[in-house]
Amino acid sequence: MPQVSVHTTGRLNSRSVRDHNLSLVLHELHRRFSASRSLVCSATGLTPGAVTLLVNELMKAGFIETSGMLEAEGGRRKKQLVLSGRTCPVAVLLLRPASVRLVCESFSGERLVDEVHRRDFRGRPVEDFVSFAAELIYTLERRLAKERGLELKAVGVVSPIAVLAHQTGTLPNADFGWPMMDIGASIRTEVQRLGGASTVVMMNDANCAGWAEYRALVQKGAEDPHGVIFIDTDDPMGGSFIFDGKVYNGALGTAMGIGHIQINAEGERCVCGKRGCLTLYAGRDALMRRSGLTELVNTSGPDTALAELERRAKVGEEPARETLDRAVRYVRIAIENALTLLVADCVIIGGYMGAHLDDILAVDNGFTSLGVPGVTSLHAAVLGDEAAVAGGLSRMRGAVIDHVGEIIRGESLDPSTLLQDTV
Ligand SMILES: [Zn+2]
Repeated sequence: MPQVSVHTTGRLNSRSVRDHNLSLVLHELHRRFSASRSLVCSATGLTPGAVTLLVNELMKAGFIETSGMLEAEGGRRKKQLVLSGRTCPVAVLLLRPASVRLVCESFSGERLVDEVHRRDFRGRPVEDFVSFAAELIYTLERRLAKERGLELKAVGVVSPIAVLAHQTGTLPNADFGWPMMDIGASIRTEVQRLGGASTVVMMNDANCAGWAEYRALVQKGAEDPHGVIFIDTDDPMGGSFIFDGKVYNGALGTAMGIGHIQINAEGERCVCGKRGCLTLYAGRDALMRRSGLTELVNTSGPDTALAELERRAKVGEEPARETLDRAVRYVRIAIENALTLLVADCVIIGGYMGAHLDDILAVDNGFTSLGVPGVTSLHAAVLGDEAAVAGGLSRMRGAVIDHVGEIIRGESLDPSTLLQDTV
């Protein structure tokens, strides 16, 4: 018996090392878009012999292919390896107040499906959404299998709802009126009842948006930051914190809920129960109300009203000017507080405040590291409304890569360990 046990452990260890190395090679190609075998060797520290075996296995399983493109490396032109679309498509469902969007991409990044369903689930039982989501996922599974011979393994449901640390349970949500429950598990059960097999996980939209903006920054050539604070200043004001390439979720999934940090202890009462939260001064709704533009929001839409606010503030018209000035000041205070606690070296501002980076930097509040080259860089977000979907797809692709060994062996994926990019 002892020999069997030792033997089994040895096999398990070599299997997990092999799984790890398969993921390592794929992550490198995902990060770089393409690379030669020798570049993969130097980036991963694996021997040429090991890389050849791993690449052959990944090619056989349909995860990578040679692009046919030759690129010069150190004076020699070498064949490039790229991700292949022959296996494992990734999909996200984006739940918004009045719509559900389904987006599916091949493993190599080609967009296969992108459809928006005008459905408003606010105030409706969560079971209605569960059935609707399961139906969409099951239909997508069937469609991918029939039209392309592809098997959908995992789907991320991206929503404003906070996701608990075990990745599928969700906190109660006031906008939709849903209780604390495991929405991911309910959707999975319903997908299985229909005859589908996808693993379904819940993802927070601010975490996905922050992830996409962080990846976009690195792809543009910025040095990979250690700590990234992402703030979305549009309602509901939120954010995310990415540390060493991992999304910091917090035990309740509410980490970086920067809209609800207290700016004024004597301020008016916020929906969260505290007084004087940032969102009461810098949230878009609050700005419009205080500037007398709520009616314009209702008649002409939020973008027209925001443009009008910016115009009035620029020509010094009150109360627009003072209201916007104060929002800029308070956002700056919130950033400084976050930096004091987290010591991030990169801050990305999404939403309407992204147009006010210079104003944020110009706020005089004594010593700061914000905007100091080489210490803390400050950027405007670039992806806008697409950030949550782009980040969701990228994180799902990362999850497939993390589990490539299990997928090749045909094992089912455990939703509680699917998103390993999260702490
Ligand atoms: Zn609050």
